[in-house]
Amino acid sequence: MTPKKRIAIFGSTGSIGTQALEVIAANADKFSVEVLTAQNNADLLIKQAQYFTPNCVVIGNESKYQYVKDALAATPVKVFAGEDALEEVAGMDCYDMMVAAVVGFAGLKPTLRAIESGKAIGLANKETLVVAGDIVMRKAIEKRVPIIPIDSEHSAIFQCLVGEGRNKIEKIILTASGGPFFGKKPNFLVNVKRDHALQHPNWSMGAKITIDSATLMNKGLEMIEAKWLFNLQADQIQVVIHPQSIIHSMVQFEDGSIKAQMGLPDMKLPIQYALSFPNRIANNFPRYDFKKVQTLNFDEPDLRTFRNLALAIEALNKGGNLPCILNAANEIAVYAFLKNRIGFLDMTALVEKAMSKVPFIQNPTLEEYFDSDAEARNYTASLIDL
Ligand code: NDP
Ligand code: MG
Repeated sequence: MTPKKRIAIFGSTGSIGTQALEVIAANADKFSVEVLTAQNNADLLIKQAQYFTPNCVVIGNESKYQYVKDALAATPVKVFAGEDALEEVAGMDCYDMMVAAVVGFAGLKPTLRAIESGKAIGLANKETLVVAGDIVMRKAIEKRVPIIPIDSEHSAIFQCLVGEGRNKIEKIILTASGGPFFGKKPNFLVNVKRDHALQHPNWSMGAKITIDSATLMNKGLEMIEAKWLFNLQADQIQVVIHPQSIIHSMVQFEDGSIKAQMGLPDMKLPIQYALSFPNRIANNFPRYDFKKVQTLNFDEPDLRTFRNLALAIEALNKGGNLPCILNAANEIAVYAFLKNRIGFLDMTALVEKAMSKVPFIQNPTLEEYFDSDAEARNYTASLIDL
């Protein structure tokens, strides 16, 4: 019998983290949970730890350490707290594969530490590659660590590439649902409120990525993510609006042939694939029925209205620390929008300002990425008095 794959879930209380735990619970003969981490949601972390009895848990918010420690006192689970602990635990020997499901820039350091320690990565946290994709991928190659995408579009492309060896990619086609405001114009978007923007038509996800989907920033971040994952030039990455979210993305090879990966929108599938790769595991997830969804539509993205996507394409083309600046400003802007502090279109204005304010560096070191991130965050926050 093959030994169980030992999994560490960073961001276990989030949308991806909880779905990863569902997949593992349904396949307890194949996987064990060794690390769980949360930022604030101590109660869910405790419940998860009581169920899965991992080697250890990390609660990011240090003020909740004693609460978690007391709740798990009767179990063998070790309890750690704080940002540094997150990184240290990522370097521990007790697991084989990290599911990187922390949201935002905070996921970068633990993921880098996991790669340095030779762990396989199931990558949901796209911001890691947006910020420092060159450094992360170089390190992964050096350490011979596989980075298996969980983001559904990138999982689709990864699946399309299986068996293609060194066959050249002409381009990839990333599909986008278009989000809740597909077809709308700026005069509508200017009045959009938080609760409306949080209603995604096809996917149920964490708050930050749901807002990014509504502004199309998510697709821009995914273009940058794809560049690094699949070693592509910017002009090899195309975005197509596909409102049904049945085709999760496509690869066009140099003979013009296009491969697509299809299915109902359900993140458990790409999560399961990343965990079990190169094998597939039978499951009873709902199946796509051609009789029910008979029409698949395609459209061009509206870059004039959804200017976040245009800004991300600019960052993709220019490279250097510009994607890092874009990402940092966007995290602050989305946070402010979620707090009802700014309007929907203000998010774009803030990102644009930060991109022209923070000095451009063509080949940043990791330290310079951290500095650019901090500078972009501080500058953006100062504009809205956060
Ligand atoms: P959620 O907001 O639902 O979950 C985020 C997780 O990260 C939670 O466990 C949260 O803990 C933890 N966390 C939040 N802030 C920090 C921090 N500063 N330090 C450490 N941990 C932190 O996000 P999602 O699950 O939606 O997304 C996670 C990542 O996956 C994102 O990068 C997203 O872009 C990507 N992704 C998500 C998809 C989805 O369907 N949700 C699809 C494709 C990609 P707590 O609960 O305690 O706050
Ligand atoms: Mg995606």
